[in-house]
Amino acid sequence: MLILGGTAEALELARELNERGVMTMTSLAGRTRDPVMPVGEVRLGGFGGADGLDAFLRSEGVPAVVDATHPFATAMTAQARAAAASASVPYLRLARPDWSPEQGDRWHLVDDMGAAVTKARILGRRIIAAIGRQELGRLRDAPDLQVVVRSVEPPGDLPAHMSWRQGRGPFAVEDEVALLRDERIEVVLARASGGSGSAAKLEAARRLGLPVVLIRRPAEPDGVQDVAAAVDWVLSVLAGRSTCECPAA
Ligand code: NAP
Repeated sequence: MLILGGTAEALELARELNERGVMTMTSLAGRTRDPVMPVGEVRLGGFGGADGLDAFLRSEGVPAVVDATHPFATAMTAQARAAAASASVPYLRLARPDWSPEQGDRWHLVDDMGAAVTKARILGRRIIAAIGRQELGRLRDAPDLQVVVRSVEPPGDLPAHMSWRQGRGPFAVEDEVALLRDERIEVVLARASGGSGSAAKLEAARRLGLPVVLIRRPAEPDGVQDVAAAVDWVLSVLAGRSTCECPAA
């Protein structure tokens, strides 16, 4: 049973399946230096595209794949769907539900990082960016803004208008409020990743009346949104081995 991981949901799924006697192998991209290790077997690093994953599924005799990667890990999801289809291995997408605004939220939804920087600039000058390291380019090129980057791993050398605060979720709302106050933040810039582990910043922004620029989630393939449903799917696939929900090639 292969779990494509890198998320809290993948960790929980591995734990739940192993408790039920299902052996799992969780695959991590290997980018984080000190990742939280899943229960069960773990492998690190890319497969070499969809073809590499197809070959891996066949050579390891993987009976099913749950793709529990992050909602913004779109390349991996596309490759996993293609590889599962070509190797005829049942595939399930497990992706946490998207966020919805609550009363008091001042959200501005945008499509990409370029639009996010444009919108943030209209709303304020001191920005906290809770986004992936790969997406910092446009903020590096915005010396008119003061940017605090919050990420698990250090983002490398930063220009003078940017600073780094280390942080690994789940975050507590009180800590997020303190961070936004300490840094005198005017705008929160984040991706609409969904889930509870990183939602505290949204509640903190609501409490402080701050605007949030949210990059919309990419479209998701059909699948399930919670770990319990993924456990049921795995157990039914392993019990029957006949309900192949292989995505179309
Ligand atoms: P991505 O752009 O969709 O994938 C880039 C490449 O990384 C893939 O083509 C694949 O390489 C490799 N890869 C990604 N996930 C992998 C996995 N679970 N196991 C083995 N190889 C994997 O992904 P990303 O956005 O860089 O994210 C990388 C990992 O970090 C994902 O596992 C994701 O769940 C986790 N993560 C991402 C974010 C985010 O904001 N994007 C946030 C939190 C966690 P090959 O082509 O060589 O197979």
